[in-house]
Amino acid sequence: MSEPNDAHFPFQCNQCQYNTRNPHLPCAVHPHKIEDARCPDFELDTSLPAGEWWEPEGAAYYGGEILIDPVQRWTRAQQLALLDWHPLFTERCPDCERSMTQTTPARVHWDCQECGWKDDSV
Ligand SMILES: [Zn+2]
Repeated sequence: MSEPNDAHFPFQCNQCQYNTRNPHLPCAVHPHKIEDARCPDFELDTSLPAGEWWEPEGAAYYGGEILIDPVQRWTRAQQLALLDWHPLFTERCPDCERSMTQTTPARVHWDCQECGWKDDSV
């Protein structure tokens, strides 16, 4: 397999039948480089076993296209909302407002001793 992080070629080249798997001449059609994020001559190499495809972390190939993995536990909005109420950031229980400070070593669970509020964000 060619070098996956070669900046001269798009990610899709790793699955292309024109990829020679030779680091000195990675592409039979475009020997030097491809300027665009997608190659106009891309042809899916169907001889590649599915598990052999290199995929960057957090992304996957679907039908010859690379997609960033949309599955995240928290959406961006939820992450931002956490800043407003989570005791890790506010140092207060979101229920009874009792002061809650970080411990040493840093705690993961922020359950409230006073009102019994349970931190289910972890
Ligand atoms: Zn509380």
